[in-house]
Amino acid sequence: MESENKQLQSKAIHDPLTKTYNRSYFNEYFEKELHRCARSAQPIGIIFSDIDRFKSLNDTYGHQFGDLVLQRVAKVASESTRRSDVFCRYGGEEFVIMVNNPTENGIHELAERLRKLIENEVIEFEGKRVPVTASLGAVVGIPPRDMTGFGERLIAEADEAMYNSKENGRNQVHVRSIISQEDNELQKLVKRSRFSRWLVTKKIFDIPTISKALLKCPQQETQTKIGELAVNEKLLTSNQVAEILEAQQKNGQRFGEIAIQRQLLTREQVAYLLAIQIEPPIVLGKTLISLEMLQSAETAELVKLYLSEFKASAAPMEERRSEFANS
Ligand code: GH3
Ligand code: MG
Ligand code: MG
Repeated sequence: MESENKQLQSKAIHDPLTKTYNRSYFNEYFEKELHRCARSAQPIGIIFSDIDRFKSLNDTYGHQFGDLVLQRVAKVASESTRRSDVFCRYGGEEFVIMVNNPTENGIHELAERLRKLIENEVIEFEGKRVPVTASLGAVVGIPPRDMTGFGERLIAEADEAMYNSKENGRNQVHVRSIISQEDNELQKLVKRSRFSRWLVTKKIFDIPTISKALLKCPQQETQTKIGELAVNEKLLTSNQVAEILEAQQKNGQRFGEIAIQRQLLTREQVAYLLAIQIEPPIVLGKTLISLEMLQSAETAELVKLYLSEFKASAAPMEERRSEFANS
């Protein structure tokens, strides 16, 4: 019965023609991702891909050839997306890719790579190559805490970007960002505060090496709450966290936003907390040990050093807090 259940489940989430995930799986996963990204103020990205003049391919070579094109395009594109990205057939000749932790440049490169792969795929009808291309549109955004309508907006923007590619002559990529200036800057600060980046800055590893290790890191099922991290790191007291959470209930703002407004944390500290939330140094450290890239004693030392540098940047706030306490 268990295997029967698995089969049923697999049918419910896969498209029978292309064997990729279907739209209902996309919807479910997208909803989960939106919540995850909203909690940690992380960007989420979507790429829409629509095969060019597909109707005329069907009309000229027949529906069966159309089906073959769909299978080949799905195969070449899904195989080249990362494990952390989710590739789905959205409907007809439209595919959608949910991109994990994207940047605007990164998602542009990925979409462009997919476009080229599709263009270069050799698909033949009766021994003669039939050119197949697709138009792509992508978007990156950071879900606000109150996510009402945000998922729909993201999809609409990706769809519009894809239509820009169609209007502009097809077989091309258009990318949009709906990340605010402020969020963009915080995001950059978070990137700079990560343990992986720190290891590169300290010349312990180069970027390609650390990128490989990051890909090997186990995906976290749950993230530690930012308030909890702030208490663990002795940046906030439990009372302060409770105070922020209470304000959050009322105004729906992000934890970090409120903490900065109330001068309980600096932007740098919020960025550090977000960085260790997304990329816990211990998780990366363990991966580096298991890949035999570091010894365990060495790793412990590096993690300690990284955290202490982060504490050093926290010092002025510590002083300020004791000032508050005294007044
Ligand atoms: P554009 O470049 O503007 O995207 O033109 P298009 O012809 O690709 O766009 P349109 O949306 O008009 O056509 C999509 C076609 O895809 C129409 C439909 O018959 C065909 N189609 C949808 N699902 C399948 C399928 O599973 N198999 C096949 N063979 N064709 C399909
Ligand atoms: Mg279409
Ligand atoms: Mg089309």
